[in-house]
Parts: sequence; C-alpha cells; structure tokens
Amino acid sequence: MKKNTLIFTIAISFILAACSTNRITTQASAKKPQNIIVLIGDGMGLTQVSTTYYYKEGESNFSRFKHIGLHQNQPTSHKVTDSASGATAFSAGVKTYNGAIGVDQDTVSVPTILEMLAAKGLSTGLVATSSIVHATPASFYAHTASRGSYEEIARQLVYAPVQFFAGGGTKFFANRSDKLNYIDSLAQQGFQVDTTKLATKSMDVNKKYAYLLAPDGMPKMQEGRGDFLPNATQMALDHLSQDEDGFFLMVEGSQIDWGGHANDADYVIQETLDFDKTLGLVLDFAAKDKNTLVIVTADHETGGLSLSASTVFGQGDYSKITPSFSTGNHSATLIPVFAYGPGAEYFMGIYQNNEIFDKMVQAAKLSNKR
Ligand code: MG
Ligand code: ZN
Repeated sequence: MKKNTLIFTIAISFILAACSTNRITTQASAKKPQNIIVLIGDGMGLTQVSTTYYYKEGESNFSRFKHIGLHQNQPTSHKVTDSASGATAFSAGVKTYNGAIGVDQDTVSVPTILEMLAAKGLSTGLVATSSIVHATPASFYAHTASRGSYEEIARQLVYAPVQFFAGGGTKFFANRSDKLNYIDSLAQQGFQVDTTKLATKSMDVNKKYAYLLAPDGMPKMQEGRGDFLPNATQMALDHLSQDEDGFFLMVEGSQIDWGGHANDADYVIQETLDFDKTLGLVLDFAAKDKNTLVIVTADHETGGLSLSASTVFGQGDYSKITPSFSTGNHSATLIPVFAYGPGAEYFMGIYQNNEIFDKMVQAAKLSNKR
C-alpha cells in the first residue's frame, strides 16, 4: 500500500467512525415521547410572551425552555391567518384557507394528530377558555368547511375519540336550532357530563369526562374566571396520565386573542399570566414524567401589541412601559415555538406553521403518508 493510499484509508476510517458515532447520538436524543401536550396561546406573539417578564411576580415559566423556534403562519387564502387555518396547520399539517376546520384548501377532511394518536390507543383531551367548539380546539377533532358551523362541530365532538374536555359552549349542545339535545348524546356516549363545576373527586380511568361550564366562552380573568385553566389542565393530566399507552392533550389560552382584539392590555396580560401559570404545572408534570413532549406556541399574534416606553410631554420615559396596539385584528409576525422533553430538538429553527404537525409526527414516530 502506497503511503498516500494508507493516509487516505486511515482518513476515511476516521470519517466513517465519526459518522456512525454521530448517528448513534442522533438516535439516542430522538427518544420517542409517550405523551404530547400542545399549549396554544391564541394571539400570543413574542410581545404577549414578554408580558410575563414585566407583569408577573416571580420567574416566567417561559424561562424553563431551551429549545426554541419560530413559525411563519401565512394561510393559502390571505397574507394573515385566522385561528381556524392556524390551528388546522398544527393539527393536520396542511396550509389551508381562513375559516377551515380540519379540512384542506379544497374542503377535504384531513386526519388530525389527535385522531392519529387516538387510533394508536392513546387517550386524548382538550381544555380551552373559549367554547370547546371554537376554532382552535375544534381543529383537533372536527372537520367543517366553516368555523362558524358550531352546532355541527358540537355534534362531531360527541363522536370524536376524546376522553376529557373542559371549556364553555353549553348552548351549542343544548340550545340548538335543530332542537336536538347533545348533552344527552354525550352521556349516551359514556361521558360524565358536568355543566356546573369542575369535579373535585378522583377520576375513573374507564370513564370519559365532559365539563361545559358556560353558555359560550368562559368568563374573562378580569371577570373572575379564577383558576379554571390550571385546574382543568391538572384534571386532564390526572385523568389522561392513567392510560399506560400515553396521551395527547391540547390546552388553549383562548382569550389572549380576545384581549388583543379589544385593544385591552390588562385583558391580554391577565390572560397571558393565567396561561403562564398553567404552563408551569404542565412543565412540572413533564419534568417529573420525563416521557412527555410539551410544545407551546400561538396560531398568530393579535393586536400588533408593543411594550412601548411611555411618552411624557413628547419625551420617551424609559422607566415606564405603556402597552400600545397597532391594530384590532391579527398581525403577520413570526410566532415563537417553545419545546420541552423528548423530541424538543425538532422544534428549533424557523419553519412554516404546518411543519409543527410534521415535527410531532416525527417525534411520535408515526407514519405520515402525505
Ligand atoms: Mg382560539
Ligand atoms: Zn382572533
């Protein structure tokens, strides 16, 4: 063997050894999570997240993340997304039109991550501070051409593979234009239904639970909603984690968006702090469990919120923040994504909103035929 050839051979061996070590490392870090929890702060852009650093006593729970990315959220029909196409991008992996619930841009139903994991035997749950048939939660279990088809979405929830849900929306089940009573149907499908309060007793793994605690959306934090979101989320974790096959849970801080539409900074802040508190208990669960992937993001930003320095007599007063809004609608800004637990590394970088679905599929090692 010539000297040059020998050096070449040795070099190649080192490269191959390095490659195989690298591959082992990648596989080891890509451990499959047993559970996936998605928390969506509707309308929660980076500025809304930033309020937890200025208006919260104590550390922001967002500081607990090391894996952070950004998503671009343009739908097929417009430049700026609504909550329906935004949530359908996450839940079903398709870019679609504003108003679409679990359907593609040709209004064809697309399977959702919740349905795919349920088919693998996982338990599933949904918690929201809007009605449970509102665009964000609906996009995980329903398929309708229009987000406004609330009564049809309610009907679909009765038969969806969901073991726990909590939110508002009794009127879409019990006070319908077709005079049918889908509260009764929920009970017939095996749900323990409560329209008055969250239960305090322990939960039976073999039962399904439905909490519908307001005619439409839940009250605002400013109107005394209290700890509904953290408490309902804790109940969902207590119930769903009894399934040894694992679980999928979607939790939405729905009203961060509504505060943005109202250009009411205190409304946005109170709802974001409630979301942060809920995030804290979810991360506590995941830290203890070590087998749970937590993903936190928003569908879009609402209000064009800015934490502006105050202006006094035309001069900037940098000692004080006066939040200001640039619109009563949504904005097109990139949206932060925070991930924790096995598979969190997939969520780093800058990507499209529907790639969040692909990353969940990849992390959960599901086969995605699209
Ligand atoms: Mg929403
Ligand atoms: Zn909105």
